[in-house]
Amino acid sequence: MAKEKLKQRAIFLDRDGTIMVDSNYVGDVDRVILLDGAIEALRRLQDAGYRLFVITNQSGVGRGYFSRQAVDQIHRFLDETFATAGVAFERYYVCPHHPDDGCACRKPHPKHLLDAAAEYDLDLAASYMIGDRASDIGAGANAGTRTILVLTGAGRETMANEEVAPGHVAEDIGAAADWILEQDR
Ligand SMILES: [Mg+2]
Ligand SMILES: [Zn+2]
Repeated sequence: MAKEKLKQRAIFLDRDGTIMVDSNYVGDVDRVILLDGAIEALRRLQDAGYRLFVITNQSGVGRGYFSRQAVDQIHRFLDETFATAGVAFERYYVCPHHPDDGCACRKPHPKHLLDAAAEYDLDLAASYMIGDRASDIGAGANAGTRTILVLTGAGRETMANEEVAPGHVAEDIGAAADWILEQDR
């Protein structure tokens, strides 16, 4: 008899303001600054069995500020940096479009999360989307994941100015990891 394969749980991560500093359209590796505790937090989540995905809106491409290749270069740098602690992202999903393009992949559209779920056989209801903007929380909610708003990046502004209903609010990615691992106990 075929054994039912257990679906995997995922952490969907916004990039700017969540795992690295959002210094306004980062298109250059030299401007990448990781947020404190990001490596450690993702190592703990990975050790607990979560697969890690980055879901990022990079409208700087659509606006002509930097190229799609520059985005890939930043992601190679992130891979190398996180690999020093044994942390591996399964994949980066990038929306390169201008907000006015009306594309289907820009958060809060859930497309990239749904694509990942289909490709990697993920249990969305047992997965989390973590980000600092309403569009992150919207993407997670639209895909059926749990959601965490972090107060790094634009997080405090988001809480003050946007109508947003995250499942949890965490000081930063480290506190988000703490909370997720508590839910698992
Ligand atoms: Mg962000
Ligand atoms: Zn798009």
